[in-house]
Amino acid sequence: MKASQFFVSTLKEAPADAEIVSHKLMMRAGLIKRLGAGIYNYMPMGLRVIRKVEGIIREEMNRAGAIELLMPIVQPAELWQETGRFDKMGPELLRVKDRHERDFIIQPTSEEVVTDIARQELRSYKQLPKNFYHIQTKFRDERRPRFGIMRGREFTMKDAYSFDRDVEAAGRSYDAMFKAYIAIFDRMGLQYRAVAADTGAIGGDRSHEFQVIADTGEDAIIYCPNSEYAANIELAEALPLLAERAAPTLPLEKTSTPGTATCADVARFLGLPLQRTVKTLVLATDEFDEAGKVAKSTVWLLMVRGDHELNEVKASKVEGLKGGFRFATLAEIDTHFGCKPGYLGPIGMKQPVKVVVDRTVARMSDFVCGANDEDYHYTGVNWGRDLPEPDVVADLRNVVEGDPSPDGKGLLAIQRGIEVGHVFYLGTKYSKAMNATYLDEKGKPQFMEMGCYGIGVTRLLGAAIEQNHDERGIIWPDAMAPFRIVICPIGMDRSEAVRAEAERLYQSLQALGVDVLLDDRGERPGAMFADWELVGVPHRIVISDRGLKEGKLEYQGRRDAQATPVAQAEVDAFLK
Ligand code: ATP
Ligand code: MG
Ligand code: MG
Ligand code: MG
Repeated sequence: MKASQFFVSTLKEAPADAEIVSHKLMMRAGLIKRLGAGIYNYMPMGLRVIRKVEGIIREEMNRAGAIELLMPIVQPAELWQETGRFDKMGPELLRVKDRHERDFIIQPTSEEVVTDIARQELRSYKQLPKNFYHIQTKFRDERRPRFGIMRGREFTMKDAYSFDRDVEAAGRSYDAMFKAYIAIFDRMGLQYRAVAADTGAIGGDRSHEFQVIADTGEDAIIYCPNSEYAANIELAEALPLLAERAAPTLPLEKTSTPGTATCADVARFLGLPLQRTVKTLVLATDEFDEAGKVAKSTVWLLMVRGDHELNEVKASKVEGLKGGFRFATLAEIDTHFGCKPGYLGPIGMKQPVKVVVDRTVARMSDFVCGANDEDYHYTGVNWGRDLPEPDVVADLRNVVEGDPSPDGKGLLAIQRGIEVGHVFYLGTKYSKAMNATYLDEKGKPQFMEMGCYGIGVTRLLGAAIEQNHDERGIIWPDAMAPFRIVICPIGMDRSEAVRAEAERLYQSLQALGVDVLLDDRGERPGAMFADWELVGVPHRIVISDRGLKEGKLEYQGRRDAQATPVAQAEVDAFLK
């Protein structure tokens, strides 16, 4: 590619709404361009990176035996009604109507459609296993689109779905995908961890997230530096451990000074397992006697699952705080509280505590503490107040860091991560809901065992930049770079020797199959270097008259402090 025939559009300043480095650099390097909240144009330079990412994913998926197809973005609601997700999923699911007033959805994922294909096409055990995947546009109406395409509303995902005859076979499909993901993220040169994740209603231990390590990550990982142990924060496995630490030992006065209570404070105060409270909230109750004293106290616990499938808010009622709770609907909670401040009785503590319910807050650390007029402290949130994003990692650091890891091999640590992939065993959840069966050897219909496997294609760009950048710009890992090598001729318009060598090298590298860009725009060296350092091309070769006189070109890797002279005669082989 020649720069004069390509589209290079770099900016000195990042737009004000770009909070984190990857978002800023993607905007400045002209990789993406904002169209609306969470909706971006993938500009030519960015698209090249996306295509590289897709290429790696496609190769490894194919190698692992998965089969590519393409399912529609716009999907009829009927299928989604079969599984109940049309109604169950919250506002993250974009619902649209056609001219006949028929309901459709814009796919956030494709379990329904792929299961519909499977139930029609996969009739016999002889056709199993099968793993279908596509790389397709997704839409999720995220509550908080942010960080550019890292948490977009429209984004590209690779999603794969495996179909197997039984649990054991499904396990093999899962393991094959797990291995493929390792190959994919290794090839991208990322620093990541596969962490055990919550399996929700499905149960078992087959759910893993692939988390790219980054301080700006929205997720938190609990891991042991001396062993394989790594789990995301929701995972039940960590629960007893954390629950123990979260025992209600601290008197309320100590935990809640006016200001913001940490997640750990509230959990400790309530005697709730901390790990559950991270994405869980709200406690409250009332019931007074005639004298205005609390006669009965009940605690309500809302579990807000970030999971797009369980987007509805689940509520559990915790009687007397511990043990025996049941799920209540949000409507029940609303009726109970009228969405107004609830009043919490002496939940095992000496003092009454006032609590306000806010269904929009998602974490315990959203609680704000203050003092009530009995001069006791209370914990609650202000209805409708826009609270700052809680710092989950900071909350948990005190509680878990330094605890022995469940495998006994070391001490626990916490770090932040960006979820770039997720492998999940689905069991027969969808095949049962949609009656997807195959005939076994005896001709008996059996439900197919399924698994689903996602990778955030566009999110990966942001995640990679978070790990690979400096003050001058992006530093792409070779496998993801829009161009692997940029040729920067100095004074190409003045010097025939420079022009000729630039052309020769460009043609030669192209013939060798190297992904090379020739910067023939006639920019000054400073501007030219700044552009490619910002864009993050990993290798640069400078051609100048001065160098050519000595038969040399200058090579500089994006991370190198200095250029290295390379003999003209050896440069092709050197760059190959
Ligand atoms: P998150 O927890 O970040 O919301 P998720 O668990 O909802 O992600 P999955 O349903 O597991 O996401 O989807 C598979 C992958 O798609 C994720 O691992 C992530 O890499 C990517 N992804 C999910 N939501 C977005 C988004 N809003 N923007 C970009 N990529 C996304
Ligand atoms: Mg997630
Ligand atoms: Mg999500
Ligand atoms: Mg996920």
